[in-house]
Amino acid sequence: ATPTALLVGTGRGASLGILVKGPEVLESTRRVDTILLDKTGTVTTGAMTLVDVVVAGVAGGVDRADLLRLAGAVEDASEHPVGGAIAAGARAEVGELPPVVDFASVDGLGVTGTVDGRLVVVGRPRLLAERGVVLPAGVAAGGAGRTCVVVAVDGVAIGLLAVADAVKPTSAQAVRELRELGLRPMLLTGDNAAVAQAVAAEVGIPADDVVAEVLPGEKVQVVQRLQAGGRVVAMVGDGVNDAPALAAADLGLSMGTGTDVAIEAGDLTLVRGDLRVAVDAIRLARSTLRTIK
Ligand code: ADP
Ligand code: MG
Repeated sequence: ATPTALLVGTGRGASLGILVKGPEVLESTRRVDTILLDKTGTVTTGAMTLVDVVVAGVAGGVDRADLLRLAGAVEDASEHPVGGAIAAGARAEVGELPPVVDFASVDGLGVTGTVDGRLVVVGRPRLLAERGVVLPAGVAAGGAGRTCVVVAVDGVAIGLLAVADAVKPTSAQAVRELRELGLRPMLLTGDNAAVAQAVAAEVGIPADDVVAEVLPGEKVQVVQRLQAGGRVVAMVGDGVNDAPALAAADLGLSMGTGTDVAIEAGDLTLVRGDLRVAVDAIRLARSTLRTIK
């Protein structure tokens, strides 16, 4: 492959809304046979909204407004779409949110912080369990199609928040076209299995090709396991939690609408955050390299 021809390919990519880190990226793009799709912000819009608030009847009388104020305050410092939805939903209902100190984000699990001198944890049941919070029975499962997170204050679970977003209008077609190109699309997410399966069904990914409830580090392991089985793996993602997997994949595609960390970790950026442009990238790589041979 001549460098000049590859550069013509990358120039054409730019006009399609594909930014390529270097001409050699087209070669790995051409060889890919498996494509892992992150769910939130990649297959779905990532524009989440708060759709349900459940207050646990705990002693000490935490009401709905307290729950929203405490959770909203911590989530206001989060960069994750789940956090943005909770902060916006809380603010809409209770107004200005109090300041948070000692904020920490636990990738793929949730957030913690201190509000009004109280330690607040918001996240997956797994995070709460790690922090020694006893969960009321039945809390672990998310409702169909919704991401549920638990809110705890000073070690006591005080309620549940549910957020939801929609599948991007182009995602199902992109999945179909990827398959037509001979690739195997798979869904990879930190979200719960019920939500993951609902999204997979909507875009046409079989249940067996869904990997849910994975931690960011485990996303890398999924990539490596497929590679060990002889697959050439592309990963598409947008979040901080996707960065290690984007770097480990044979080809990392980052959503231009995603976080800087993900964009840096990828080999190729889909500027508009449209999964169908991933299809264009693969077609472009194949045709460019065919021209050169
Ligand atoms: P995905 O792989 O679908 O992009 P993530 O790995 O980013 O999902 O997140 C996985 C799960 O971690 C979310 O579904 C949510 O339950 C929890 N989570 C992530 N960030 C937050 C947050 N800021 N607040 C509460 N929960 C969070
Ligand atoms: Mg994501």
